[in-house]
Amino acid sequence: MIEAFVARLVSILDFLFGCHHGHLSRVFTLGGETYRVCFDCGAKFEYSMKTMSVERRLSSAPVLTRFRIA
Ligand SMILES: [Zn+2]
Repeated sequence: MIEAFVARLVSILDFLFGCHHGHLSRVFTLGGETYRVCFDCGAKFEYSMKTMSVERRLSSAPVLTRFRIA
């Protein structure tokens, strides 16, 4: 129940203050996947060696780790 609430809250925050993925890692190739990771939110992006650019978002990090509480 609380998780659903938090997920909803995070999606609202994401909408308002969404990550612009400005701090991407270097390109990784792991397990046959080539991707870059956003340092800010942990999102993974599929990276194409062919076009040398990010193709699409692979997955979002678990909701609770997306916002750093420090
Ligand atoms: Zn991001």
